[in-house]
Amino acid sequence: MLSVKHLSFSYHKTPVLKDLSFNINQGEHLAVIGESGSGKSTLLKLLYGEYDLDLGSIHWKNNEILGPKYNLVIGYDFMKYVAQEFDLMPFISVEENIGKFLSNFFPEEKKERTAELLDVVELSAFAKTKVKTLSGGQKQRVALARALAKQPEIILLDEPFSHIDNFKKQSLRRRVFRYLKEKNITCIVATHDKDDVLGFADTMIILHNNKIETINTPEHLFKNPKTPLIASFFGEFNVIDNKIVYAHQLEPVETSQLKATVVHSYFKGNYYLIEVKVNEDTIFFENDTKLKTGDIVFLKSLK
Ligand code: ADP
Ligand code: MG
Repeated sequence: MLSVKHLSFSYHKTPVLKDLSFNINQGEHLAVIGESGSGKSTLLKLLYGEYDLDLGSIHWKNNEILGPKYNLVIGYDFMKYVAQEFDLMPFISVEENIGKFLSNFFPEEKKERTAELLDVVELSAFAKTKVKTLSGGQKQRVALARALAKQPEIILLDEPFSHIDNFKKQSLRRRVFRYLKEKNITCIVATHDKDDVLGFADTMIILHNNKIETINTPEHLFKNPKTPLIASFFGEFNVIDNKIVYAHQLEPVETSQLKATVVHSYFKGNYYLIEVKVNEDTIFFENDTKLKTGDIVFLKSLK
């Protein structure tokens, strides 16, 4: 189990994280979300032992994670960290980068393991390619494979798919997260993308104002968004009579108290997002068809 107790940290004088406590079990996937600058990357670096805590403690099983004040070499064998800025060796090939940390005493196993990892990150065709010639997204995938090479007990991923284009992202996500689950690797992923969370994370932490705003399952938080910040992570929403109502929870009806004027229809693929005005307030709802600007609609909340 990873156990974080009363963790506080500041880079200089300004606190970044204040009194964070949480636990994660072996094999569990935790998503850390929050706005840019909320401290997601900092939290991952602290979990890795890159900095010394101001207060509190971090334990993985019976090991205390300690910072540079106590460790000559940062990091632990049981843990791997893929930073937002991944540093690879540019002048050697993809497979050499991945194999760098695998033993040369077992060449057959090394070859098989490298092939398996190349398959997970869908880079088999680039095995012999020099890293410096790869795109940002491909480099990110090499960094992922390299972190997995020695099968860590716990892996820390900082926005792991941020450089990867949409064509590849969906399938890569499924492969990587499925691989981690199969191998029972504990995973902590910092992200602002809900697609990295829904369907994959067991638990979600939302960082806000230097603290954990909430910690729960993605499903619980999606269904019970207590604050606009939580709702905004999942999608378009409105605050109506002090209640949070997602855009998909409003539908047009024959007549209702909520009379609205259409401002704009945004094509979203399998639906249109309709922006309307109700008195002075802007409201969004989802509709099957496009509506004309200036049209009057009556809305009903399904909540
Ligand atoms: P996130 O990953 O959620 O965007 P970060 O953890 O990168 O947030 O940053 C949290 C806060 O700490 C920000 O205000 C950022 O400017 C500050 N910060 C991050 N890294 C450093 C650093 N090396 N030195 C000083 N301040 C930093
Ligand atoms: Mg970050």
